Amino acid sequence: MDSCLFCKIADGTIATEKVYEDEQVVAFNDIDPQAPVHILIIPRKHIARIIDITPEDSALIGHIHQVAVSLAEKFNIAADGFRLVNNCNEYGGQAVYHIHFHLLGGRKMGWPPG
Ligand code: AMP
Ligand code: ZN
Repeated sequence: MDSCLFCKIADGTIATEKVYEDEQVVAFNDIDPQAPVHILIIPRKHIARIIDITPEDSALIGHIHQVAVSLAEKFNIAADGFRLVNNCNEYGGQAVYHIHFHLLGGRKMGWPPG
């Protein structure tokens, strides 16, 4: 999608600090990190929100979770623990309408979230 920031990151039009990519997904460091490790994992396919996924996207969403786990291991946050977050719509705090999962770790997280 031409006007979408994360589509431009996925296709390389906008540069980011990528930490992983394959034919389905791209993972890169968040520009405004909220934890020592703060990685965004996105599909190359433009899906605006988690509520827009269809049964066809099931394998893709599963793959994103597999990538999150392997990145948690790679960045040494798996043993201590981490958080994998999707924000949806206004009340969820979604700012970019291309589905993405925040992988956060390297510090103890609070609960409940703000
Ligand atoms: P959300 O509020 O869940 O939509 O999260 C959007 C995230 O995208 C925020 O954590 C931003 O800091 C991050 N972000 C926005 N622009 C960029 C960019 N150019 N490169 C990396 N991260 C970005
Ligand atoms: Zn997009």
